[in-house]
Amino acid sequence: MTYDDDNIFAKILREEIPSSRVYEDDDTLVFMDIMPRADGHCLVIPKTPCRNILDASEAQLAAVMRTAQKVARAVMVAFDATGVTVQQFNEADGGQEVFHLHFHILPRHADVSLRPPGKMGDMAAIQAHGDQIRGALGR
Ligand code: AMP
Repeated sequence: MTYDDDNIFAKILREEIPSSRVYEDDDTLVFMDIMPRADGHCLVIPKTPCRNILDASEAQLAAVMRTAQKVARAVMVAFDATGVTVQQFNEADGGQEVFHLHFHILPRHADVSLRPPGKMGDMAAIQAHGDQIRGALGR
């Protein structure tokens, strides 16, 4: 399996399509998922190409996990969450739809189920949730 430079997250990295960015450093980018399964659902990706954990380098994995921890801690604060789910899929049969490595960060609350996948969110609400995460990261 080879990396496709035209996948949607590669286009987001090149700013060819818009995204609601909440954090970036030299190696990683975090932006809001447009079909959020929980308020504050965001995605952590490496800035360099790889499909998933099967072809990622140790450096890519380390960078992405460092950022995932930072953002997981931030969403706990931003949404007064009582838990956080970190989700990651590999290849189509593993549930992956976009073939650039990404980790889902999903703030969780007691007795609140994840919403079903594949449903477009309200962009104003997604923007507002991104602002909340940016605020918590800035504290
Ligand atoms: P998966 O590859 O199964 O982990 O799912 C890909 C995720 O990317 C889904 O949660 C989608 O809602 C999300 N997604 C797809 N296109 C975009 C986009 N343009 N901006 C933000 N998130 C996206």
